[in-house]
Amino acid sequence: MSDRYTSFANTTAGRAMVKRLGLPEPVRLRRYRAGDPDIEGTVLVGGAGRLAEPVRKLLREGGASTEGEGPYTGLVFDATGIADSTGLRALYDFFHPVARSLRPCGRVVVLGTPPEECGNPREATAQRALEGFVRSVAKEFGRGTTAQLVYVAPGAEDAVESTLRFLLSPKSAYVSGQVVRVGAADVTAPANWTRPLEGKVALVTGAARGIGEAIARVLARDGAHVVCLDVPAAGQPLSAVANDIKGSALQLDLTSTDAPQRLVEYFSERNGRVDIVVHNAGITRDKTLARMSEDKWDVLMDINLSSQERVNDALLAADLLPSGGRIVAVSSMSGIAGNRGQTNYAASKAGVIGLVQFNAPVLASKGVTINAVAPGFIETQMTAAMPMVVREGGRRMNSMSQGGQPVDVAETIAWFASPGSAGLTGNVVRVCGQSLLGA
Ligand code: NAD
Repeated sequence: MSDRYTSFANTTAGRAMVKRLGLPEPVRLRRYRAGDPDIEGTVLVGGAGRLAEPVRKLLREGGASTEGEGPYTGLVFDATGIADSTGLRALYDFFHPVARSLRPCGRVVVLGTPPEECGNPREATAQRALEGFVRSVAKEFGRGTTAQLVYVAPGAEDAVESTLRFLLSPKSAYVSGQVVRVGAADVTAPANWTRPLEGKVALVTGAARGIGEAIARVLARDGAHVVCLDVPAAGQPLSAVANDIKGSALQLDLTSTDAPQRLVEYFSERNGRVDIVVHNAGITRDKTLARMSEDKWDVLMDINLSSQERVNDALLAADLLPSGGRIVAVSSMSGIAGNRGQTNYAASKAGVIGLVQFNAPVLASKGVTINAVAPGFIETQMTAAMPMVVREGGRRMNSMSQGGQPVDVAETIAWFASPGSAGLTGNVVRVCGQSLLGA
């Protein structure tokens, strides 16, 4: 969808004008192109804890340099050695001299210990403080810079590579100000990081258009055979997407009573398994609560939340999700912040977050992970149909001063789907350019 303001603000005259008037200054975000390395240039690594050395090693092996003069593509700080509040000064000492030495669309990653796993309250307090630091850096550095905090559990030092590769690459262009938790896990690193999903079978619901189409394309780019599911009425665009990515098209309405059983039969007969399930299909039926018909409540809750539960239960009961399986659900910022006219939608999307958080420990015993992405304002047909004032508000009220692209959501899902992401479960990551709503 066209964002004329961003185009204008990136011309020479436009840049000068928006600066003079103090208007938002959206930069053109750098995005990943197939074949590019995940990490390149110089990523400066600082701090002294249990992660600095292993991280330097994996970055060098991944093709980046970890020392030298700026400008830097990324700054990584290992804060796991900070034992109390006085130690937080190390953040200032590392970042202050290099704060202006990042390239445009640079990356900042701070690594910490989950506060709940710290040995004492002082250490936990200092580790908790990292959140405020990172969220502020994400708002302050500008020029398309992203900043994230990754809490790495003790014993999970070997489980961070897929996360660092994602957060330091252009794949995470519209993900900023997020807190991610990595737990200890048996990680099988992909044989080929450019096609980490080689040999995997993936199901993507709502794949005929919009975000679902982008998810199907990115998972296929990463090597998966993608089964693209959508309603029969969307049969034609669905086949076009499936053909284009050499996947399969499956016409199925997720609200039909036999949908879970049909999915079980489909995967039992064809593949004998499904490694990755992406619950993307979703609808809006906006009305204030007093004006909302029962039907608007019921149909939305069924598609956006209950159908996900039914499909998961059926696939798990039939043993079709093997160890190493991945479930990724699409929530929404609305489910975090709430939204006028969206009591039904926000309840369903907050429910998706609950589904992920409460199933994560249950599925861990099967070796299956479950995570959610919560998109903010993404340029799709849905957002193009909004009234102009609401649309412009949504586009600008975030640290990037622009909307995200469907591919930004898709890349985040591909990161969760990777075999390297076995240590990630129960996470909810917003793809919202650090939206001010629900912050
Ligand atoms: P979209 O309307 O363009 O696409 C949704 C797809 O789901 C459609 O192809 C539709 O046919 C399919 N679908 C709907 N009901 C179905 C059913 N019963 N069975 C099978 N398929 C069905 O929407 P989008 O903007 O691409 O959104 C995709 C997801 O992202 C949704 O869950 C949405 O709530 C979420 N989301 C979108 C945004 C945004 O800014 N666009 C923001 C936050 C969350």
